[in-house]
Amino acid sequence: AKDEGKNNYRIYDDTLNVDAEEKIYIKNSLRRALDNDEFDIYYQPQVEIKSREIIGLEALIRWNHPKRGPIPPSVFIPIAEECGLIEPIGEWVLRTVCKQSRAWQDAGADPIRVAVNLSARQFKQRGKLTEMIKTILAETGLDPAYLELEITENLAMQDENAETLQELRNLQITISIDDFGTHYSSLSYLKRLPIDKIKIDRSFVGGISKEPKDEAIIQAILLLASHLGLTIIAEGVETKDQLAFLQHNHCHDIQGYLYYPPQKADSIPRILSNHSPE
Ligand code: C2E
Ligand code: CA
Ligand code: CA
Ligand code: CA
Repeated sequence: AKDEGKNNYRIYDDTLNVDAEEKIYIKNSLRRALDNDEFDIYYQPQVEIKSREIIGLEALIRWNHPKRGPIPPSVFIPIAEECGLIEPIGEWVLRTVCKQSRAWQDAGADPIRVAVNLSARQFKQRGKLTEMIKTILAETGLDPAYLELEITENLAMQDENAETLQELRNLQITISIDDFGTHYSSLSYLKRLPIDKIKIDRSFVGGISKEPKDEAIIQAILLLASHLGLTIIAEGVETKDQLAFLQHNHCHDIQGYLYYPPQKADSIPRILSNHSPE
């Protein structure tokens, strides 16, 4: 069961470039995917290193194409962004996650924060995103303290997004910076904007014990986060060596295959009640 969330995509991998014909095919299938109920959400636990307790979940979309089988989000999300389908898909993700989260709580689980990935395009129409999220929170009755939004540095940096971010933060939603350090961006937004948390990208984590420069970057990010009072989580943690390095350098939380791959929603209540990973 531990392996069930791992990528076993048959014809795509994260690095493969999709050719033009394939892109059109995906675009056309994407238009029907929502109506045909082809999407699903998996949840990957985030673990506090010290206590080994699960402190959050990241929601990750899955698409099971009726003919092609699973198509990874790294392939279809950029295409959905390009053709304007990310707005309805993003809304579906938020609604599904908030509903699910509330349902777990109603079934007696300890409340836990769930993080949702947002695309830059979802910020484009001013005020609309905040309104949509408010509506979904009201509809599902989820306490916004249990919702987290993951955005990229690029998005956070753009001045025109500052107001929306502040509105979301005012609702008590947690804002985190995904893939921290991988974009060419200035750091000044960290002091200007209501950011709560940063996620160390798995490309750096992958270099632990192999690439001293990656280790130096991680140490610098951890120091920066601690001085700015930001929560920090490392993603893509796969090995005990990586965990040991992160723990030694005072990283709080981790997410990765070492403890849990992304899980089906059904498995979450059992995992939450078992508490710590083996
Ligand atoms: P991300 O936000 O950086 O998500 C983390 C990715 O790392 C996920 O890939 C997850 O399955 C994978 N992962 C987790 N632990 C490990 C590990 O230990 N090792 C390795 N190598 N990988 C690990 P996934 O689910 O394929 O998602 C890829 C990207 O697609 C995400 O990257 C995110 O940018 C995007 N995405 C996924 N779901 C959504 C969504 O609902 N909305 C939007 N806008 N984007 C999404
Ligand atoms: Ca993410
Ligand atoms: Ca990430
Ligand atoms: Ca990433």
